[in-house]
Parts: sequence; structure tokens; C-alpha cells
Amino acid sequence: MNDPLQICETFVSIQGESTFAGRPCFFIRLTGCNLRCSYCDTTYAFDGGTPKTIPQLVDEFRASGLTLVEVTGGEPLIQSGTPALLKALQAARPDAVVLVETNGSRDISVIPPGVIAIMDIKCPASGVGRTSGAGAAFDWQNLERLRPQDEVKFVISDRADFDWAVRMVNEHAIASKCQAVLFSPVSGRVEPVALAQWLLASRVSARLNLQLHKLAGLR
Ligand code: SF4
Repeated sequence: MNDPLQICETFVSIQGESTFAGRPCFFIRLTGCNLRCSYCDTTYAFDGGTPKTIPQLVDEFRASGLTLVEVTGGEPLIQSGTPALLKALQAARPDAVVLVETNGSRDISVIPPGVIAIMDIKCPASGVGRTSGAGAAFDWQNLERLRPQDEVKFVISDRADFDWAVRMVNEHAIASKCQAVLFSPVSGRVEPVALAQWLLASRVSARLNLQLHKLAGLR
């Protein structure tokens, strides 16, 4: 419990990329990521940061006065203390909703019950590869580990990514395994209106997911 985690930053902003989009949220961004996506907008989280203990982080969350907290990165599940941090945040206040964003490469069964996972499935243009086995960009067994409250996100760079994502959603019946399937356009690569039109035409069970915090001019 007192072993520190390596923390890139903590901050308050609007949750922007899930069905919780629009709600004020306390963010804990952990240092380090095992992937290198071509569109990554948090490369500053790859290294550095400050060690903080779980009680320190819980105190910061409580002091924020918010009831929504998200642990993100980087990739939070590469730090062994993350499951304990998530449990401690749940215990900090009974009315809290605890989210964890993960790139999907690590076993999500370590996430405590009741915590909501927002899990990426990396598309081809991410450039991180989608092979199976150790070091893969996605652990395909995670599809069977999803809980009903979890959400799955595809970050779409181009039409080929969209077609691939639709195929994955349909072949694996992903919408039936979780709360929501999110399709997010990569800023500067796909216009939101184009992705919206593709979604409408395809009839895929997914929702358009824009980075609401950025649209609001926030980090
Ligand atoms: S998984 Fe996330 S943090 Fe890691 S490189 Fe990809 S976009 Fe960046």
C-alpha cells in the first residue's frame, strides 16, 4: 500500500473520451507506456514523473471534491501498484466512479470489480502492430475479460482503420460484451463529420466519440 507509483501528473479537467464525457473528473496520469502509437498525444508521459504513494493520491482525489476519478497514462497496467490504487480510490468515497484507461495490451482481469475499464483496441494506422503473443499491442483474451460496465475504444486514423474496426466489432460481437463501443477520430487525420457519416452508413453498433475536453479548450 505504501509503495509509490510513478506519477506523471494529477489534474482536474472535463472527462472527454467515454460515456462519462462532459463530467468534471480528477485525473491521475501514470508514467510509462509499453506502446508507441503514431498519433500519441501524451508522449511526455513516457518518462520522468514523481513517486507518490497511494494514500497521497487518495488524499488528492478527496481534496478535489469530485466524484469521478480516472487513472490513465501512459499505460497504467504496467505498474504493479495500479490495482491497489484503483481499490483505494473506490474506498475513498462510496459515491465515486473510478475509471481506468488502458491500451489493451495487458491483462485487464487485474482491474478490481466495479472499476470501469476504457480499453483501446489499436487499429492498423496506430503503427504498433496487432500480432498475438508476448509484447503484442493487444491481448485478444481481454475481449473475454470485459465486464458489462466496461467500454471499448477504437481510435480511427483513416477509412481502412474504420473498416477494420467495424469488422472487429462485428466478428467479436464486442457491443454485446460491454457498455459501449467508442469510435474516436484522430485529430488532423479524420474529420469528425466523415467518421460520423461512415458510422451512419455502416450501421455498426458503436458511438461517435469526440475529445470533448479538447473541444472545450481544455487539456
Ligand atoms: S498507448 Fe496511449 S500513451 Fe501509449 S503510445 Fe499509445 S496513445 Fe500514447
